[in-house]
Amino acid sequence: MSNKVFDVIVVGGGASGLMAGITAAKSGCNVCILEHIDVAGKKILATGNGRCNFTNRKQGASYYRSDTPAFVLPSLENFTAQDTISFFQSLGVMTTEKNGYCYPRTMQAATIRNALLKEVQRLHIKLLCDIGIRKIEKKNGIFIFDTKTGVFSSKACILATGGKAEPKSGSDGSGYLYAKQLGHRITEPVPALVPLVSNAAWLKAVKGVRQEAKVSLFVDDAFVFADHGEVQFTDYGLSGIPVFQLSRFAAKALVEKQNVTVSIDFVPDTTADALKQWISNQIEQYKTTGSMTDILSGIVNQKIAQQIALQLPFANQSFAKLSKKQLSMLVEKATYGLKQTVVTITETKSFVQAQVTAGGISTEEIDAGTMESKLVSGLYFAGEIMDVDGMCGGYNLQWAWASGYIAGQNAGKKIVRIL
Ligand SMILES: Cc1cc2nc3c(=O)[nH]c(=O)nc-3n(C[C@H](O)[C@H](O)[C@H](O)COP(=O)(O)OP(=O)(O)OC[C@H]3O[C@@H](n4cnc5c(N)ncnc54)[C@H](O)[C@@H]3O)c2cc1C
Repeated sequence: MSNKVFDVIVVGGGASGLMAGITAAKSGCNVCILEHIDVAGKKILATGNGRCNFTNRKQGASYYRSDTPAFVLPSLENFTAQDTISFFQSLGVMTTEKNGYCYPRTMQAATIRNALLKEVQRLHIKLLCDIGIRKIEKKNGIFIFDTKTGVFSSKACILATGGKAEPKSGSDGSGYLYAKQLGHRITEPVPALVPLVSNAAWLKAVKGVRQEAKVSLFVDDAFVFADHGEVQFTDYGLSGIPVFQLSRFAAKALVEKQNVTVSIDFVPDTTADALKQWISNQIEQYKTTGSMTDILSGIVNQKIAQQIALQLPFANQSFAKLSKKQLSMLVEKATYGLKQTVVTITETKSFVQAQVTAGGISTEEIDAGTMESKLVSGLYFAGEIMDVDGMCGGYNLQWAWASGYIAGQNAGKKIVRIL
């Protein structure tokens, strides 16, 4: 290997690292990307179920989470969703949108990855895969990378090694170690955009059911966050996008040993009063022949109806034999089951099933305007390695592009100043 001295070395060839390398190279820097698995951009291929939801038109601080929530704003304002779309279009990627969710027109994530790799090649960026970095240190103003294929050096270093989610794509958390070696603090990483696990026995009976519902997360009985959409019931617990959206709060609370519950509203579009009226009318109509399972099966998935009915009093008695008070209690409890079934969460699934990591390099030690370390001059961060996680819907990749762009641009500016 001839040239091992670079202006900028980017560690990690994922979404944010490729963007950071491309941006630094465009500003005239001699750039190298060090990737520790055999290919760059592997995770991009898995995004959006292989279609890559690469950004979202709807933006704002509320779509991103961090210990310092305003941290994301300067990057997202300087590199907007429109900038992301224009960037990929400039690389020859036709794009398409559905309700603000942006995809390559091909609906193939490979289109996005290949466009990035083509640009890396065009800009003569050195992309070295299968590199085993043992240590990164800064000596006399120069970053030194001790790797299994030799020693590399650079004037600026961009750490873009991702978090711990989906480790088979290369992001195994090893990047945190370099940040620690360079003096940075790590906010405990936990899995996010991940299924939730529960011991509730009834879930086994409804496994495989997908039902539109609203899910609300409570930590120590206090409401935290709610979302609605298609919830997937599995034998271990709850999954689906609305559950993913709650999961980072659940994961953080479980680490703190707090009590985590999810309340499920199976009929979020109908009020409790309207449901009571509906159920009462059905009881009246089928007083001698009907059952609560039948009535609930007209409202929600049959397997869920059966499980709610099993929890109700007077299950085996004909409606005709119940007193007015008993009927009223039955209606009340059935409505409660439909609107507020509570599931206790014991854990989340692991990083293997997680789409992102909540936690990472503390944002307090990073300049929000430049992505430069406040502790080590010339050290920059990009993407999920930082304590920033986005909601499902293109937000995590938008963070990767935006922070990668800002880190690459500012590392480039610094090198130009040094030269
Ligand atoms: C299944 C799945 C689906 C997803 N779908 C979407 C979606 O549709 N939209 C969206 O916005 N987000 C999605 N995400 C999240 C998104 O992919 C990530 O947030 C984003 O890829 C993070 O980019 P990154 O560059 O920070 O990290 P990564 O993409 O994880 O890249 C990090 C890179 O660094 C390398 N690396 C790690 N450690 C080292 C080391 N020690 N030395 C050298 N190299 C190292 C890794 O091999 C990897 O190539 C999805 C994630 C998953 C797992």
